[in-house]
Amino acid sequence: MHVLLVEDDPEIAGPLARGLARYGHDVRWVSTGQDALLAEDDPEMVLLDLGLPDMDGLDVCRRLRERSEVSLIMISARGSETDKVVGLELGADDYIVKPFTVRELIARMRAVQRRRLAPPPAPAPLPGVVIGLPRASRGRDRYGRLSVDRLAHRTYLDETEVPLSPKEYALLVYLTDRLDTLATREDIMEAVWDSNWFGPTKTLDTHVYGLRHKLGDAVCIEAVRGVGFRLSVKSPAATRQPAS
Ligand code: CA
Repeated sequence: MHVLLVEDDPEIAGPLARGLARYGHDVRWVSTGQDALLAEDDPEMVLLDLGLPDMDGLDVCRRLRERSEVSLIMISARGSETDKVVGLELGADDYIVKPFTVRELIARMRAVQRRRLAPPPAPAPLPGVVIGLPRASRGRDRYGRLSVDRLAHRTYLDETEVPLSPKEYALLVYLTDRLDTLATREDIMEAVWDSNWFGPTKTLDTHVYGLRHKLGDAVCIEAVRGVGFRLSVKSPAATRQPAS
């Protein structure tokens, strides 16, 4: 995999780059946020240290996300839950706290790529075919006023696109796949975040809050205390009409 490593400390970056290379990854190393934003080649994975000399890694993440959906893992010495939640809210796929082993990082990189490459429910047409079709003519899964274009990862409310973060989108897809069914916190965390997620699941509440805020009363995401969440659609057209 082509990896962009953004890390200012050569004593971390050097061994890390060599370790990743041993696993067959092609690593480009930059040591500032500016260089990360200016990197012209197209990485498949960004490993982003948050403590950079010229700008905050969170800002680098935000600006990368404005233009790219590249897989991104944040690397930080800051292990507080707030940092993780903010990082994940900004669209990081995962967050790893120093110190960590190359093996752990590799496992997380693989998990991120597996989730990214997970096949959509419907067979995906060839990329050229998708690009050639006008967006409106493609099938969307409809849930009342809400519709989801799973090929494009786009969400619409009354035909107006609703910008969701990658995690909000993944959470919405997980819940709409289980319409009117109670999904447990553990199952959601495992499917949407990381199968190795241990500890607090506050980030899940943050993302549910974000979805409720963005989707208004088009859907109801009901919290079942201590268990999980259940999504239902309020409008009369509540039945799922799969894309044809
Ligand atoms: Ca640093």
